[in-house]
Amino acid sequence: MARHFDVLIRGAQLFDGTGSPARGADLGIEGERLAAVGSLDAATAALELDASGQAVAPGFIDVHTHDDFAALVVPDMGFKLRGGVTTCVVGNCGFGPAPFAEARAMAEAFTPGLSLAPYDGTRGYLERVEETEPGVNIAALAGHGTIRLAVLGREARAPEGRELEAMKAWVREAGDAGALGLSTGLIYEPGRYAETDEIAELAAELRGSGALYATHMRDEGAGLLDSVREAIAIGESADLPVQISHLKASGRENWGRVVEALALVEAAQKRGQTVFVDQYPYTAGSTVLRAVIQNEAFDPAQTSGGIGAVRPDDVVVASAVGHPEWEGQSIAALAEGFRLPPQEAAERIERDAPGATVVLHMMSEDDVETVMRHPATMIGSDGIPTLAGKPHPRLYNTFARVLGHYARDRGLFPLETAIHRMTGFAAQTFGLGDRGTLAEGAFADLVVFDPQRVIDRGTFEHPNRYPDGIEHVFVNGRHAVRHGALTEARGGRALRRATS
Ligand SMILES: [Zn+2]
Repeated sequence: MARHFDVLIRGAQLFDGTGSPARGADLGIEGERLAAVGSLDAATAALELDASGQAVAPGFIDVHTHDDFAALVVPDMGFKLRGGVTTCVVGNCGFGPAPFAEARAMAEAFTPGLSLAPYDGTRGYLERVEETEPGVNIAALAGHGTIRLAVLGREARAPEGRELEAMKAWVREAGDAGALGLSTGLIYEPGRYAETDEIAELAAELRGSGALYATHMRDEGAGLLDSVREAIAIGESADLPVQISHLKASGRENWGRVVEALALVEAAQKRGQTVFVDQYPYTAGSTVLRAVIQNEAFDPAQTSGGIGAVRPDDVVVASAVGHPEWEGQSIAALAEGFRLPPQEAAERIERDAPGATVVLHMMSEDDVETVMRHPATMIGSDGIPTLAGKPHPRLYNTFARVLGHYARDRGLFPLETAIHRMTGFAAQTFGLGDRGTLAEGAFADLVVFDPQRVIDRGTFEHPNRYPDGIEHVFVNGRHAVRHGALTEARGGRALRRATS
């Protein structure tokens, strides 16, 4: 008797997420799982999709996001789903979802007027995700900055014994709740006040659990190499894999240093350490203006700030709550209008629009391609979900840009390699069981896209555009995107670290 599925995808070019080249296959979905992969000519289904000429891949895993609260307050998560993303790792750059009060205070800038009932710890956060049923799966890192803020406030000193114990307890709570690891953001307040030892001791609380240490390093400018060494040393001391977040060389005088940074990663790998990196596919970054101010990035002579030296015309306001007229304007232009030097202009913007975010044009295209070609690199959008204003276009377009621009048009690597970086490789590194590869029995997170058409469409002028060529997206078997449009089906879950 012919098999019957809930969903049958016929005639697709299957990229299974392992890095193997595509092969022709049909896929049958039953409930939340992929029930069959192969030639399913005789099968029937409640929904049959003809995918001839299309590619099918595991849903993309965005390993670097700041969607902790977006998952709760914008639960359709259309800005991710319509780009093919089915799983977001939240809690990056030291900004974690717990403890609640500090996490909420830190996220206020991205989501003004954020109103949420409190939850207790990372466990409570993941339970809240489950109740909310967002459009994408959510996995969380514990955030060192959030935890430090809860215990030490904004004090620029090392923790005392009892304070360190209190911080460790929060890390353990997160680990026990299924967090994928611990993140740091060492250019931000208060993470920047932590010494190497403090971080290593906290990370060591997760030793042996399969969790990893993810870091927005202390300095992505002149101090890049020392920062890579610090990250690797923390991983070695804590005996955890290291994930270097959004690897880059920031500031013109540092361009090219990614080559040496990657050499340090390779040397650590040769010594037996697990060290990987992630990257967003743009020469511009984005962050809170406050961090640019604190790192004195407008001082052309500075050599010690974590962002490097940036020119005021390379820094553009992305979102400024209450001052939409500033959005899209550079600090140079605004400073001229205010008749203030750039640093003081930036301080005024931060004072009048607290939490303002900026886009920084600070990397070289050569460096972006060097990092992307490297086999240690995964893809993470690092998008800041300020849906109003002019967020960095990476929020919507990251994965389509890697597939269409860097893999197909620039030929950096074959499509199967691009897909592996955003699926199987990510799932394995972050401990996401039964996801990231399309094999029988895996969760049915998958994306159907047109490999000829897929491309990013968001620009810095018009960032709020969805990419082209993403046709269908399924999350845990639910049909979340149909012919490029969002459906009502929300299939996301809270994902906890696989312990096997
Ligand atoms: Zn970061």
